[in-house]
Order: sequence, then structure tokens, then C-alpha cells
Amino acid sequence: MSDLPILIAGGGIGGLAAACGLARKGHRSIVVEQAPALGEIGAGIQIGPNAFHCFDYLGIGDEARDKAVYIDALRLMDAQTAEDITSIPLDAPFRERFGNPYAVVHRADLHGVLLKYCEDSPLIDIRTNHVVEGYDQDGTSVTLKLKDRDAIKGSFLIGAEGLRSSVRAQMIGDGEPRISGHTTYRSVIPTEQMPEDLRWNAATLWAGPKCHIVHYPLKGWKMFNLVVTYHRDVKEAIAGKPVSKEEVAQGFEHIHPKARQIIEHGNDWKLWVLCDREPISNWVENRVALLGDAAHPMLQYFAQGACMAMEDAVALSHCIENYGDHVENALQRYQDMRRVRTARVQMNSRLIGEYIYHPDDAKAAVRNHVMKGMSPAQWYDQLSWIYGSTGLDETALAAE
Ligand SMILES: Cc1cc2nc3c(=O)[nH]c(=O)nc-3n(C[C@H](O)[C@H](O)[C@H](O)COP(=O)(O)OP(=O)(O)OC[C@H]3O[C@@H](n4cnc5c(N)ncnc54)[C@H](O)[C@@H]3O)c2cc1C
Repeated sequence: MSDLPILIAGGGIGGLAAACGLARKGHRSIVVEQAPALGEIGAGIQIGPNAFHCFDYLGIGDEARDKAVYIDALRLMDAQTAEDITSIPLDAPFRERFGNPYAVVHRADLHGVLLKYCEDSPLIDIRTNHVVEGYDQDGTSVTLKLKDRDAIKGSFLIGAEGLRSSVRAQMIGDGEPRISGHTTYRSVIPTEQMPEDLRWNAATLWAGPKCHIVHYPLKGWKMFNLVVTYHRDVKEAIAGKPVSKEEVAQGFEHIHPKARQIIEHGNDWKLWVLCDREPISNWVENRVALLGDAAHPMLQYFAQGACMAMEDAVALSHCIENYGDHVENALQRYQDMRRVRTARVQMNSRLIGEYIYHPDDAKAAVRNHVMKGMSPAQWYDQLSWIYGSTGLDETALAAE
């Protein structure tokens, strides 16, 4: 590979994970981020065992494990009746089956662990206040075009700037993302503000008609993460807008008071309108590749977007390590290793939203009937394709 640095557009979880993975393999990178300072918004994130496999590969296993809260179960409740539908235990048999735990973590903590690794590495140069506008490439290098700044030259470019990536806009040109119409409101509250009868050590999902509520503990049980979602058919994309409690509560009258009370207990609610895109099969153009939400943005319902971004970083690092003498070939292999798995998660995220999170009436009855009947072993079998690997041991790699 040339002596030029690798260029990474975007300093979110995906961009920083890519920089860590490449540095572990001895490669120099420049990460450019539009924000004046690096950081993540204050909310929680669920991390499956597949993410833990990635932490180890990326060299941040111990630090990430230290920040996580290890929950006992994934608990599904009927939001209309307050009845337990099912619980997937995350105890020893789960960990043995998947080789790692399931946990929850504050996003800022996970991002902070990645950032610390990057800041400590002499191979990673992070530049904030750098807005990416596009790129040129000439067969041996890539030039990254920046707003109001000189361009930067690198050996290849990873577009990791999330849902509205400029690198994707130039490469794929598929316009604005699809607006799902689902409004998600997020709040993080001190544990003492959480109703005592709901202080469960679980990632709990209350599923109701066109709406759901999620809560779980964070930060060594000092806080609770609250996520309240309603399918309001909103037509406009919104990210992180502060909203009143009254706005959050609208449309939850049909929900059981035990679940509804959570809205009262939240503070400083912020609104996102969820967006995704159709899966695509090509997100590499010669020396330019996409990663994370830039490549395969998904709805949050599988709780896998950040996990997929970290898996991408692992696969990319692996391919550059093994095939980096031919960058274009290495990037193609990276994409081939990732595209089916990530498309499957994108599609599943929509299906889960429709058939598990938001169904009404007969469809909700089918959900309850099917899910109530499932044993832990059956759940583990269902989830094994996603939690059992990082994608590195998928068919594409096995075939090599
Ligand atoms: C409500 C909600 C809950 C979620 N829960 C989970 C969960 O439980 N588990 C999970 O795994 N995932 C979850 N996700 C998904 C997860 O947040 C994303 O998939 C993940 O953050 C994607 O990381 P990324 O680095 O690809 O993109 P981003 O996090 O979007 O980072 C992109 C970075 O690029 C920067 N950038 C953008 N444009 C430019 C530009 N032109 N120039 C320079 N920099 C730029 C941005 O400022 C940002 O720092 C959830 C998402 C939502 C909305």
C-alpha cells in the first residue's frame, strides 16, 4: 500500500472503530469530523455479543466491558395489558452459546473508549471542524474535498458520515433517506426518578399498537435510558429536537398506566424521526468505500446499527491487512463480506418494527401467541446468525 494516510470521513462510532482497527494493523489514518468537538448524544445503546467480539478485535475489549451494564434479560411486555409476553434470558447459557454477554452502555462512554484509543495512537490524526464535500480519485490515491479548507490526499477513503453521507451522495446519488414516519423520543434519568416497580435489570420493550416504550439501566445503574416511539406518519426528518412532555405523551392514552407512567418520569425529552434506506449491493467505488450508517442505515428495532458499524470496521481492517497491497481488491472483499449480512439486518429491522414492536389486534395476538411459546433455546437458535459472529466468519470468508 502507498505511504499516504487512509482518509476516514466522519468521527462517529463507525469512523473511530475503523481508525482503531486499521491502527491495530499498523496503518496511519486521518479522521475528519464536521463537528467542532467529538462526542455522542447522551442516550443508551444496546450491544449484542457480536459487538463484544468486535471490541476485542479493535483492542478496546477491557475498556468497553468496564463501561457496560450487564442486564439479565430482554423482556417483552404487552403495552396494552401490562402482561409479560416473553423474556430472553441473558445468563450463563446465553454467554456460553455466543461467547460473550449482551449489555447496554451509554453511547458517550462507548464513543469515549474509541476516542481515547484514537487519541493515544500515534497512527491516528483526528481533525474536527472539517466538513467533507466530496472526493476525486485517480487510480492510485484519493483527494478529499473539504468546505473552506485545503483538500487532503490519501491512499483510500472510507465514507463513515452516517445517514446523510456526502461520500455516499457522490458515489450512489440516492437522495434523501426514507422517512419512516416513526417519532422516537429519548431521555436519560437518574435511577431514583425511575418508578420503583420498573427498575428491572433488563432491556424492556413494551410493545403496543403503533407505539412502543423501551427502558434499561445505564452507567452502573446510576441512570435509566428511556425511549418512547410512536408511528405518527411524520413526513419530515428531525434529529435531536427538544420537545415537551405533553408532546411525548400524545397518543399513549391506550397504553397501560404502568407503562405510560414512564413518560411522566422522563426529563429533557428529545425527538428523532427515524429514517433508513433500501439495502444496496454496491457501496465501493475503486478506492472509496462506505461504512456504518453511510452504507446501510437501518431502523433501530434490531438494536444493531452501531454493532454493524463496528463489524464493518473489523471486516475492513481484516481485508486491508490481508489484501491491502491491492486496495481496490481489498475494498471489494470488504464489501462482499458485509453486504448480505448488513442488508439482512436492515430488512429485519423493518420487519421487527412492524410485526413485534407495533402490531395491533389480530397481529398482536399472533405475536403474543408465537413468542409466549418459545423456549430460551429456541430464541438462541433464532438469534444465532446475528449474535454468533462478527460477520468475519461468514460464508464469503470461509470460501477463501
Ligand atoms: C433511537 C436510536 C436508538 C438506537 N439504538 C441502537 C442500539 O441499541 N444498538 C445499536 O447497535 N445501534 C443503535 N442505533 C443505531 C446507531 O446509533 C447507529 O447505527 C450508529 O451510530 C451509526 O454510526 P456511524 O458512525 O455509522 O454514523 P454516525 O453515528 O451518524 O456518525 C457519523 C459522523 O459523521 C459526521 N459527519 C456527518 N456528515 C459529515 C461531513 N459532511 N463531514 C464530516 N463529518 C460528517 C457526524 O457529525 C458524525 O460524527 C440507534 C439509533 C437510534 C436513532
